[in-house]
Amino acid sequence: MATEYDIVIIGGGPGGLAAGLYAARGRRSTLLLEKGVIGGQIALTETVENYPGIESINGFDLAQAMLKHAENYGLETNYTSVSGLEQSGDKWLIRTEAEEFLARALIITSGADYNRLGIPGEDRLIGHGVSYCATCDAAFFKDVAVAIVGGGDAAVEEGLFTTRYASKTHLIHRRDELRASAILQERAFANPKMDFIWNTVVTEVVGEDEVESLKLRNTVTGEESQLPVKAIFIFIGQHPNIEFLDGLLKLDEGGHIPVNEWMETELPGLYAAGDVRTHSARQVATSVGDGVTAAITADHYISNHFRE
Ligand code: NAP
Repeated sequence: MATEYDIVIIGGGPGGLAAGLYAARGRRSTLLLEKGVIGGQIALTETVENYPGIESINGFDLAQAMLKHAENYGLETNYTSVSGLEQSGDKWLIRTEAEEFLARALIITSGADYNRLGIPGEDRLIGHGVSYCATCDAAFFKDVAVAIVGGGDAAVEEGLFTTRYASKTHLIHRRDELRASAILQERAFANPKMDFIWNTVVTEVVGEDEVESLKLRNTVTGEESQLPVKAIFIFIGQHPNIEFLDGLLKLDEGGHIPVNEWMETELPGLYAAGDVRTHSARQVATSVGDGVTAAITADHYISNHFRE
């Protein structure tokens, strides 16, 4: 027998935790499912300095505070992986490893993972100079040289952002032309702090406790070199965590879930919020806002649809 809730939330990042707080505080029976660590990407973030009202906090601690806050209002959590979803009458059936749950409304906040280069030193130095978010971390690298990897909009836009702090930003791209939009390219080429290293891949992030340099290889000549930098920001795309959808929803070309401004998907009682949705600004604060919107919309939907 599936256990029934008013609202089930898939994913325990800031969006899911904010949705959980609002849903539980609105006296909806609410379950949050998390397959890994509460907090998602921020659980791996050493310092968060851009959450309004909190000057500086460890990401794991912020996530734990959000969890405790929501649990105080009755949010339940279950650490398990969702394997499938289906509509069951006018409810949603959620399959996990061990159990099934029924929800009147379902909020997907399963986030997205940044693609990694998969090179030595990358994983070990995350949070110590390896980053996937310049908006979050560029301010930690003032008056030093940093590197960006990638040639798309994200790489160029975030690269430009790093120039507000860094003394030099080396953009390393595997080809000899950028994929980014023309306007971003113009801005980047006009910025005296930007330097472009073409036809080049990073083969290793070097450093004991923090990033000290990068090993590079030219993809045309095969020549190897070393570049001293204090940080490497990697923007080679990302993949939303939506394996469990299995074709249930139409996705955008990047694999994100399309929603309207109320976080409604194309299916009734199904919402998406945070990095998993299309056009997310990918910030803790915006994910929190999305989660709150989704919880409020879900609450209204339950009231109207189930005629309470
Ligand atoms: P993207 O457009 O897919 O670009 C990824 C970049 O990473 C490409 O330049 C690609 O090189 C490079 N790359 C991929 N795998 C690599 C690897 N293993 N090693 C080295 N380089 C690798 O991704 P994105 O920049 O994250 O953008 C995703 C979507 O969001 C796009 O539609 C973009 O327009 C949109 N976006 C828009 C804005 C904006 O409008 N302001 C800002 C951010 C993102 P190649 O070029 O050789 O394939």
